[in-house]
Amino acid sequence: MTSSETTPTRGSPRVGVYVCHCGTNIAGMVDVERVSDFASRLDNVVVARHYAYMCSDPGQAMIQDDIVKEGLDRVVVASCSPLMHETTFRMACSEAGLNPFLFQMTNIREHCSWVSEDQESATQKAEALVSAAVHRVQYHTPLEMRQANVKQSALVVGAGIAGIEAALRIADSGKQVYLVEREPSIGGHMSRLYKTFPTLDCAA
Ligand code: SF4
Repeated sequence: MTSSETTPTRGSPRVGVYVCHCGTNIAGMVDVERVSDFASRLDNVVVARHYAYMCSDPGQAMIQDDIVKEGLDRVVVASCSPLMHETTFRMACSEAGLNPFLFQMTNIREHCSWVSEDQESATQKAEALVSAAVHRVQYHTPLEMRQANVKQSALVVGAGIAGIEAALRIADSGKQVYLVEREPSIGGHMSRLYKTFPTLDCAA
């Protein structure tokens, strides 16, 4: 990825914030309406909404409509782990004409509703997470994806058990591996063991 700018773009950001219910996964513990209202009063936030399933087609369409109609140049989604849907929302932003890296996701499910037993503290934490995300997204710079040819080989430093195992796994996937060891022989600490449990094989 490359950045077209070297300093944060912070002229007059127009941030949209979207708080997901995830059915009752989030809304059952976090007061999503309150978090949305809180977000709407943060600096540079021009629209804040909450919705049942933000990753659904209508949820994504809501964000895309706002990007176009409200002229959003930053988007924050407060929902689940980025592992689940960061790509989904980046693509939605991109389809609406917004650089996908001007998007920030914050996790108010795994990091908040699922690990809380108190609605007030969960809601306060969600507000703090949203506030941080809104602040952070204003420092994002647009990035462009590019592809580069890479050499399909790997260097593993250290030929103890972990290094040997890693080298074998990589080799099994068809990649060339260079395994480097500073000692005269491989095996690390394990090679010094007399026998190993449960087979009582010689470690070496
Ligand atoms: S975006 Fe994540 S939190 Fe929201 S409905 Fe989809 S899976 Fe649930």
